[in-house]
Amino acid sequence: MSKNTSPSVQKEINAFMRGLKKRNPGQKEFHAAVLEVVSSLIPYVIEHPKYRDAQILERLSEPDRTVSFRVTWEDDAGNIRVNRAWRVQFNNSIGPYKGGLRFHPTVTESVLKFLGFEQVLKNSLTGLPMGGAKGGANFNPKGKSDREVMRFCQSLMIELHRHVGEDTDVPAGDIGVGAREISYLFGQYKRLENRFVGILTGKGLSFGGSLVRTEATGYGCVYFCQDILDQIGDSLEGKTCVVSGSGNVAIYTVEKATSLGATVVGMSDSSGFIHDPDGIDPEKLAYLKDLKEVKRGRISEYVEHYPEATFHADKRPWRIPCDVAFPCATQNEISLSDAETLIKNGVQVVCEGANMPTELDAMNLLLQSKVLFGPAKAANAGGVAVSGLEQSQNALRLSWSREEVDERLNGIMRSIHTKCVEYGQEPGSDYINYVNGANIAGFIKVADAMLAYGVV
Ligand code: NDP
Repeated sequence: MSKNTSPSVQKEINAFMRGLKKRNPGQKEFHAAVLEVVSSLIPYVIEHPKYRDAQILERLSEPDRTVSFRVTWEDDAGNIRVNRAWRVQFNNSIGPYKGGLRFHPTVTESVLKFLGFEQVLKNSLTGLPMGGAKGGANFNPKGKSDREVMRFCQSLMIELHRHVGEDTDVPAGDIGVGAREISYLFGQYKRLENRFVGILTGKGLSFGGSLVRTEATGYGCVYFCQDILDQIGDSLEGKTCVVSGSGNVAIYTVEKATSLGATVVGMSDSSGFIHDPDGIDPEKLAYLKDLKEVKRGRISEYVEHYPEATFHADKRPWRIPCDVAFPCATQNEISLSDAETLIKNGVQVVCEGANMPTELDAMNLLLQSKVLFGPAKAANAGGVAVSGLEQSQNALRLSWSREEVDERLNGIMRSIHTKCVEYGQEPGSDYINYVNGANIAGFIKVADAMLAYGVV
């Protein structure tokens, strides 16, 4: 129970969660995501009975539909392989479903429901007309040849094409689904439907992709952090940062933070972290980009190239003292003890590039300790925002310049920040609770649309 929650509100939260757990047994990631959100929303809904009378929270936490299907494909050795895939279409009250596809062995329906639920509020925060969805498969692209990945993607699209469409559901990439996978998926859709339309985002630039989409989540996360610091009259200039991960979000977080004058001294991958006290400058980042994006290598190789850095196997980077922590790898990567270490070392801001990287008890401790905390649904909304801009460009059959997209991205992140401040300012204090701010601001738009539709 958070320190500021009254016993009667806590009782309602507990009752709500009991019902949700009963309806969704064993889905612990989904339970955690809903608990985080309803802890902010139940106090708000109690004060605004129109949402309570219409059972909006009960409706919002039940996906519109979940499609689950088998994906059969053949590996290079001629073996028949079987995976399971899902598309969770969570809520389309304010626009067509939108959200990434994840290929990773840890993908389950519970993980996709947690991500889809978060996506509804995140997409609402961007101010763009997008509903929320998430999909993926328990397929591991690591160690597979390009042809194997292609055959998997083509087989998956044979089912998925029935459920997507430019006005229905527009998937994008996520962990394990990058430009290569989106291209195979789009090529297969085109073949099946004989239509060239923007049914996926994250496409290549020569076939409808948007400039800055690759950089958008990382850049957006740093813009959001800059807005947080600006709110207290500070900036990223001169700050020491640690970024977990070394994938798409992490790399462009490091690039933008460095360009704004910060020094990034740590990064990681699933094998451990590197600590480079001199900072990962643009030349070192270019090496890392090539290592991770092209050669698909391990981060430990960095220290062979830059011996002033050290590699720490199977450890998380949060023990490195820093002013700003950007968790950009995966969910549940900051535990309570990681949060304690960050606080002990004087962290000022934690800004989530990944989806729900901070465990709930760790997040509550950071909030109670008045660390400025940028939650994923606000801080990493830049990716889906530029995906929304890609949809607009596709519909207009236009391509905007790099500067134009970047400017719009920066503007969207600023407006998300403003909304979070409006709903997250703690009474009688200067502290902004961005978790409450993002949950409430994202909720209102979707909830009002649901109210307007009546009982559906
Ligand atoms: P990538 O697959 O490009 O990178 C993921 C990174 O996280 C890799 O460095 C990977 O290491 C590391 N990682 C994965 N699992 C673990 C683990 N269990 N422990 C430690 N490190 C791990 O993914 P993205 O950068 O695209 O996505 C990262 C996060 O950001 C995800 O939570 C995603 O949902 C979220 N996100 C992404 C968006 C986007 O536009 N890409 C948009 C919004 C959110 P390794 O190389 O060893 O696999």
